[in-house]
Amino acid sequence: MPAVWTYPWNLTSDGLAETCEGLAARGVDALTLASHYHSIRSLDPRHPDELFTAYPGGCYFDPDPGRFADMPIDPLPNEVSGLDDPVAETVEAAADHGLGVNAWTVCLHNSRLGAANPSYRVESAFGDAHDHALCPSNPEVREYFAAVVEALVDRGVAEVHLESVGFGSPFHEHGWRWGHPKRQALTGTTEEVLLAQCFCEGCRTAATDHPIDLGRAQRVVRDLVREWLAVPAADAPPLDAVVADEPVLDDLFAFRSAVVESFVARLAEAAGSVPLSYYVMEGHLGADPTGLWPAGVRPDRLADHLDRAMAICYVSAPDRARDRIRSLRETVDGDVTVDAGVTLDPNVVPDEATFDSLVEAVRSDVDGAVSVYHHGLMTDTHLDWLASTFGR
Ligand SMILES: [Zn+2]
Ligand SMILES: [Zn+2]
Repeated sequence: MPAVWTYPWNLTSDGLAETCEGLAARGVDALTLASHYHSIRSLDPRHPDELFTAYPGGCYFDPDPGRFADMPIDPLPNEVSGLDDPVAETVEAAADHGLGVNAWTVCLHNSRLGAANPSYRVESAFGDAHDHALCPSNPEVREYFAAVVEALVDRGVAEVHLESVGFGSPFHEHGWRWGHPKRQALTGTTEEVLLAQCFCEGCRTAATDHPIDLGRAQRVVRDLVREWLAVPAADAPPLDAVVADEPVLDDLFAFRSAVVESFVARLAEAAGSVPLSYYVMEGHLGADPTGLWPAGVRPDRLADHLDRAMAICYVSAPDRARDRIRSLRETVDGDVTVDAGVTLDPNVVPDEATFDSLVEAVRSDVDGAVSVYHHGLMTDTHLDWLASTFGR
């Protein structure tokens, strides 16, 4: 059951129906389509005459005015040539070729949404707000994404796939407003994670329902970061050690995970009977399911609200992929179907033999589907690999 990730513009370059037919002939049975997405500039090697495509953060469906009418956050649709409602039209065209469509839904990380909705941005311990992400402590943010999920479900998607549900790093280099980071005084993970902790108005309000002194946590974070900013090389201790020294930070991370859990629970309610999945990774922390708690992401706690979870296996060694799948399976319980994502990035998977052995390992280990990253970034040679690995 292989799926490929794709962008709407990758499906129209050669005609939507023709592209669906071609992928189905290569053994693909689902498209995972960017539906709500961060900014992007992608290079399509199969179309040298239209090599680059760039979009700001936005959504790839035509938002029904009524659904978002009472919300302070409006969806920001991106226009794709030849499609009025990319998600709805892709679902329809794909069905003609036996392909399901999953909605690839990037949530909190979206610099354009952040810039357009400054009141709901994440805000560091020093009070500086950041465009790169909205904060899920705000009920308005949770309701906006719930409406997005409902809109996608209404368009007949087979599954809703969530990415970026946790608190992301302030060091994130893309977008016209969001510059390349120049950060030489703060280099380590401990410093990055603490600077990524949010103390916005939404968090202060949400914290009143949790056993935490958020003001004290903010002072502790600020004092620690200030100390590290004052010296050329901070050499901060590992995060675990810092948390052990400052119990209020333990409370802070427990609060974070409660916020993220209630966010995902709300999205599960919005998805209804359509299976909900989460891509187990958060940008600055990687894809180890047990290592995402500094972003508030505890896959063991999210499991109650998810039907599926995607182990991101962007590795070359089959054993490393298996380890990641097993680690995820141990973290979530048996009710969650584990899928696996593999990449065709040549730096990771340089040749067909590596791809074959990786897919073989992953297929025998997951109970769910294998997803391949990424249809729009593939060369013609990669399409041949798909056909020989998955073709019927
Ligand atoms: Zn990004
Ligand atoms: Zn916040």
